[in-house]
Parts: sequence; C-alpha cells; structure tokens
Amino acid sequence: MGFMTAQEYIESLRKLKTVVYLFGERVENFVDHPVIRPSINSVAMTYALAQNPEYQEIMTAVSNLTGERINRFCHIHQSTEDLINKVKMQRLLGEKTGACFQRCVGMDAFNAIYSTTFEIDQKYGTVYHQRFCDYMKYVQEKDLTIDGAMTDPKGDRGLSPSRQEDPDLYLHIVEKRQDGIVVTGAKAHQTGAVNSHEQLIMPTIAMREADKAYAVSFAVPSDAKGITMIYGRQSCDTRKLEEGGCMDCGNCKFGGQEALVAFDRVFVPWERVFLCEEYEFAGIMVERFAGYHRQSYGGCKTGVGDVLIGAAALAAEFNGVEKAAHIKDKLIEMMHLNETLYCCGIACSAEGKATESGNYQIDNLLANVCKQNVTRFPYEIARLAEDIAGGLMVTMPSEKDFNSPEVGALCRKYFKGSSKVDVMDRMKVLRLIENMTLGTAAVGYRTESLHGAGSPQAQRIMIGRQGGLDEKKKLARNIAGIMDI
Ligand code: SF4
Ligand code: FE
Repeated sequence: MGFMTAQEYIESLRKLKTVVYLFGERVENFVDHPVIRPSINSVAMTYALAQNPEYQEIMTAVSNLTGERINRFCHIHQSTEDLINKVKMQRLLGEKTGACFQRCVGMDAFNAIYSTTFEIDQKYGTVYHQRFCDYMKYVQEKDLTIDGAMTDPKGDRGLSPSRQEDPDLYLHIVEKRQDGIVVTGAKAHQTGAVNSHEQLIMPTIAMREADKAYAVSFAVPSDAKGITMIYGRQSCDTRKLEEGGCMDCGNCKFGGQEALVAFDRVFVPWERVFLCEEYEFAGIMVERFAGYHRQSYGGCKTGVGDVLIGAAALAAEFNGVEKAAHIKDKLIEMMHLNETLYCCGIACSAEGKATESGNYQIDNLLANVCKQNVTRFPYEIARLAEDIAGGLMVTMPSEKDFNSPEVGALCRKYFKGSSKVDVMDRMKVLRLIENMTLGTAAVGYRTESLHGAGSPQAQRIMIGRQGGLDEKKKLARNIAGIMDI
C-alpha cells in the first residue's frame, strides 16, 4: 500500500477497539468526539501533506528496508540530509496545524530502537534487530502511526524501579512464556496514544541488574487486551463541546493529545519484543530517543511559533498599531528567538553521525542545547504575543455574546479596532493567541516545551557530561601559559 490518505487514516482508527476514557466515561467513538477529533486532524495532516507533490522532498523518503517511497514519519534516517529534512517537515506541520501533530514520537522511537537493537545483537547474538526491521517493514507498508512511549509514572523519584512500593509504577515483565512476554504497568503523558495504531514501548531510565524486569521494549496494537487509555484534559477543552463555539476555541480544527496508557497483563508475542532484560542497553535506548526528540522540538516548536508570531502581527494590525516602533521590535525579537530554535534543530542534524547499524543519530550535545533553549524561548515568545495582543485576549465576551440579538451590537461596537477590519476577525486572532498561550494548544507550546522530551534538568545533565569542560580548561591553560600540575 505505501501511503494512506488523510481520510483513510481517520477511517483506519474506526476499526480499532481502543479502550478510551474521558471525563470519567468510556468513549465508544473516539474518532468523532469533539474534544479528541482536533488532535486526530493534526495527525491526519501528516498523511495529507505527504500526498502533496509540493512537499514530496520533505514529507517522503526512500526506505532503506524496502527501497519503496514512504512517509518520512516511518523512515529510518540514512544521512544528515534526512535528519535536516525531518526538522523541516516538523516545522511545516507546526505551521499547518498550530499544534502538536503527535506522529514524531513514533519516528524517534523507530530510530532509537533500530540502532540499539543492532548493538544488543552484536553483544549477545540475539535477533532483536531483524525482528525490528520486520516490524518496520510492516509499519512502512501500512503507513501506520505509532506511539513511541517512554515515560513511566515513576512513583517515588528517589527509588529505582525495582525498589518502588508498587512494582507497577514502572512498566515491567510479569511473565516470560514460550510464545512471548506478559507486561504490566503504565506509560504517562503519552502524546498521540489514542490516535496511534500501535504502541511502541521503551524503558524510561538507565537500569541496573536488579531492574532487569523493567528493561523492556516491544510493540502492541493500541487495542490489545489489557490496555486502557485515560485522556489528558487540557485548559479550555470543554469549549470544544460548546455549540457554535468555534471562535472561542481559537483553533477549532487542530490540537494535540496526551493520555495515560495503562497495561494490565498485556501479552506481547516474541516477534514484537525488541529488548528483554538486557538492562545495560536501557540507558542507551533512552538517551537516543531523548536526543531525537530534543532535535524534533527545534522543528515543531518553531512551526507553531511561526503561527503565534503571525497571529501577534495580525493582532497589532487589527488594532491599528502595526507601524509602532516597539511593536516592530517585539516582532523582530520573537522571530529572532524562533529562528534561534530552528538553528539548533538544523545544527544538531547537520552534525549527525552514522551509528553502527547505519542509521543516523543527531549530535547529542547540540540536540540538548536545542531543547534547553526550547524550555525558555517559547515562554518569551508567548509573553511578547500576549503583550502585543493586549488584555482583551482574556477579558473579551464569548462568541455567543457577539452573536446575541440583545448584546451582540454592543460587543461589536465597543470591541471594534481598526475600521478596516471586521470586529469578528479581531476577536478570532485574539482567541488564537489565547489558544496557543493559555488554551488547549498551550499544552504543546508552553508546558510541553518545558517538560516534553525531558525536563530542563535532564538536558543540563547531558550538557554537563558532553560539554567538554576538561578540554576547555586545557585550552585556557595553553593560551594563558599555565603549566599542567
Ligand atoms: Fe512532534 Fe513536537 Fe508533538 Fe513531539 S511535541 S510529537 S516533536 S509535534
Ligand atoms: Fe512532545
């Protein structure tokens, strides 16, 4: 098959019997649920753009496994050019959706598991890599969306997985059988979980021998027996349930999604197991996935940033202040910050290197610098957008008031900005800024910028390890003429 259309993707989700809960109730038809559907539309865009000849180069690639042209979201990166195109693709998707489009977690998991399984096999003579390649062929041929799932609930952060009071706080193997393994536990904050055909699980931290039952990687269909998903709530999400509330949502078409994915004695056949107790490889898999996802943020967040900067510029125009020097300067600052993030995404890609397995890994130090900047700059960009938007962004009446026979005229009269602009357009752009800084999309643009792909401290640890401080001291000694002790 090779490529699904956006519509085929949406229809394919209907065939899944995924167990989803939202607002305390089981959702039988999650595809058409108004709170969930915008996040499905975002993933659907990854299919739609791949069909557009204008974006062929960015959105598609030739598989190293089959020689067929495939969606880049299913690709194993073969060069630094592939890594750069990945970032460009993510920026494009961010621009088209103004939200998290979710499919990158799978792509980043594919590439981390591809190289790690190769190295496990080298050491132990296992067959994980071949198995994983077979799995990838299946994913590529069917053009599936896969949820790369890493983050365990973690319980007491001061205790290792095996020392937790409740053993399920890290996902683990509870039984090894002739035909496969049985696992219990959970993955939390899983981006796009409900919208994915399958869940591709990885461990969440480096492990020691005592934790080996927790060193596990595997794939299962999202509707496998024993999996329950509980949908994460987002700020202002119930606006999507309001009739005719499109303007108040700010971005009614697209959104992101996170869920808690609980596993209760889920069976995984051996063909889908890619790491089983080789605990010393857990940390390597984690580090590689995190590196790729920190690169990813140099793409997606800049794309979403482009939309926010555009919205701020429009808001200024609609207020009639677009020529004010301080407004121009604020917009320049926003662009400067946004392009700095993009520079980091491109730089860690351009400096990527081949792994032993042949796929390409980003430069880890630069990817961590990229993500560290992402923990800061979107906050400043959002602050400047709110500054330009003005307080009306959070005090304006609802769409229903603007359309009310009693008070609609008052709203339209007193919230009019520039006489050249329809008052409703002015309100729409303010709602979009609200959506991206405080509403449903703020999950992806703000808090996810901070904690997604690892919280700031995780990057600082990596920068400390890889920044080459001893080398730098030697340089200073040399220049200053200080002898070695
Ligand atoms: Fe992709 Fe960005 Fe969403 Fe991660 S946060 S899945 S990189 S869009
Ligand atoms: Fe993310």
